[in-house]
Amino acid sequence: MRITKDTSLEGVKKIGEKCGRCGRCCSYGSGFMLESEVPRISAFLNITKEKFVKDLLEETEIFHTKIFKIRPFKKEGRPYGPCMFLDKNLCRIHAVKPLHCSIGNCGEHGDDLHVWFMVNYCLNIYDPESVRQYASYLKTGGRMIPGAEMERLFPDKDVLKKILSYERFK
Ligand code: SF4
Ligand code: SF4
Repeated sequence: MRITKDTSLEGVKKIGEKCGRCGRCCSYGSGFMLESEVPRISAFLNITKEKFVKDLLEETEIFHTKIFKIRPFKKEGRPYGPCMFLDKNLCRIHAVKPLHCSIGNCGEHGDDLHVWFMVNYCLNIYDPESVRQYASYLKTGGRMIPGAEMERLFPDKDVLKKILSYERFK
């Protein structure tokens, strides 16, 4: 099976179900959390969205789209650490964990699944800056999956040209 931009959410989650729950990947960092997932997970933890974001998450962005990472427990002198929801080798928020954690897979599709997530949930084709950042990602050797080619996303070459040359800001 080849992961493409059009692989269904259901199909991708099915691959994620093969996770053996060894906790290895969560020991070195955490998954990304979409802004839309914050209410669900903060409600599960019984804390306000504001407190959740302030105390437990780090804001970042992918392709000009706001996204969060769960704060890791960084050990002194190390740039990484286990996700704070990792309890021994199990996820304490398994029932509501972020989509990125549900699909994140250490198997043969792992890298493609991460790209699938980014192009479907972070790349915003209606935001020229997001498009420019994606173009730059590809130009610098970023991984590509079928269906996420620039020419497929932007059949109108003139529009794409204007976006990439900063003639279009909106
Ligand atoms: S995705 Fe892989 S490394 Fe991570 S917990 Fe599952 S089996 Fe372990
Ligand atoms: S939220 Fe759960 S699955 Fe995601 S990185 Fe943390 S421990 Fe792992």
